[in-house]
Amino acid sequence: MQFSDLGLCEELLRAVTEQGYTEPTPIQAKAIPAILLGKDVMGAAQTGTGKTAGFTLPLLQRLKQHANTSVSPARHPVRALILTPTRELAAQVFESVRGYSKFIPLRSTVVFGGVDIAPQTRDLRAGVEILVATPGRLLDHVQQKTVSLNQVEFLVLDEADRMLDMGFMPDIKRILSLLPAKRQSLLFSATFSDEIRRLADGLLKEPVTIEVARRNSVTETVTHAVYRTPETRKRELLARLVVERDMKQVLVFVRTRLGASRLAHQLVKDGIDASAIHSNRTQQERMDALAGFKEGKIRVLVATDIAARGLDIEQLPCVINYELPHTPEDYVHRIGRTGRAGQSGEAISLVADQEKEYLERIERLLKAKIIEQTLEGFDPTAQAPRLHRHPVRDREPGARDRDHAPRDRAPRERDQIPRERERTARTPYARPAPLPKDPLFNQPYEPSATATRPTPTAGASPAKPGPKRQVAALFLPPLPAEQEN
Ligand code: AMP
Repeated sequence: MQFSDLGLCEELLRAVTEQGYTEPTPIQAKAIPAILLGKDVMGAAQTGTGKTAGFTLPLLQRLKQHANTSVSPARHPVRALILTPTRELAAQVFESVRGYSKFIPLRSTVVFGGVDIAPQTRDLRAGVEILVATPGRLLDHVQQKTVSLNQVEFLVLDEADRMLDMGFMPDIKRILSLLPAKRQSLLFSATFSDEIRRLADGLLKEPVTIEVARRNSVTETVTHAVYRTPETRKRELLARLVVERDMKQVLVFVRTRLGASRLAHQLVKDGIDASAIHSNRTQQERMDALAGFKEGKIRVLVATDIAARGLDIEQLPCVINYELPHTPEDYVHRIGRTGRAGQSGEAISLVADQEKEYLERIERLLKAKIIEQTLEGFDPTAQAPRLHRHPVRDREPGARDRDHAPRDRAPRERDQIPRERERTARTPYARPAPLPKDPLFNQPYEPSATATRPTPTAGASPAKPGPKRQVAALFLPPLPAEQEN
């Protein structure tokens, strides 16, 4: 099938050719005709399938009738609203919209938090037909009356599952209440939970359901591998894999923000160009890290699940799970970063004994056993030297269930990725000597402003003011909501 078979106009065909696409992906072949017919769509598309073009191209074609070069803002009301859960995804979708609309005089912009609001206000005041936004910042603009949504004809909810995970449901409801009832709505989600179906029921009218991959499946072009390793030797194994297999661009997933910073820092000390991307870094730092990675200046990008959500890195060959996610669906999301648009990809997981349970859950979801591999000269049975045992820190893995972070909480700060408690990246095993000497390692534990203060353990001496309390926190058992999402 060709793009020209889908009924797209000449300007869009030209833009698609310029992007280097030769034929539509399966989701594009299904979604484009349905959207051109004015149907609501519920798209169950895994990441990397080309869904952005799948909804953007027909949307542009339907908006083409409004294209004009007038300088009057009144001639450029917002007609299409595309909501995404993260700033990175918003920026990425906007780039796509810009590329595909190159030959049609339709204006577009993107608004998301963490950056100066003034340029966004300027763009909105000048008028745009297509607005890509994260929910919180959009509501800020609504409140400041810099945007009006009463002429929106098209609504797209992209990565709707993650929006719910991140607690954006109240914001989405508010935004929906500001839109005209008569509109075309499209909802895309990598996975379809019952909650998503409920949202779709309230949002979509007689939707066409488009499914290009099995529920919760991962792309078939990705090969999966597991390397067994003690927790204490993961960093060594990772560095060796990167160097010995001459990996040029690898995205590494960890569960906590501090863990991401530390690992990137350690890799740099090991002589590997690395950077971290997570919600505690400024938007500029996140964008710089991502740009460096895309340009090949940074070899290893260490990311948390939330920060990496929706990232599209062309031909990303490899994803490594330094720590397994505690929900198997997150494995699907992580793996979706590689093997995109038909390219082959590799997903490697470094699995410690205490993560066996999470691996089994992933295998159950994939309905397949992941092949175990070994690295020549790396003996996973050899433990790093142990210094001492601590009765709490060394408690048996799984002794406390840490997998119950609320997934539908409201974001605490509008448009900020929900902040959660970060604990020091302390493993259940003692660390090998010598202790690293650098500011990141030596900085004291700092609970986030919103973290619940830990209750003192039985028999502990009464709380004293000042730094003592922070030290005491170090010896408490791991806290339940330690992961970023
Ligand atoms: P998406 O799933 O929308 O994030 O797209 C994933 C990647 O596929 C992006 O890098 C797109 O540029 C690319 N892509 C989208 N459509 C096509 C196509 N028809 N042929 C080749 N690549 C595509």
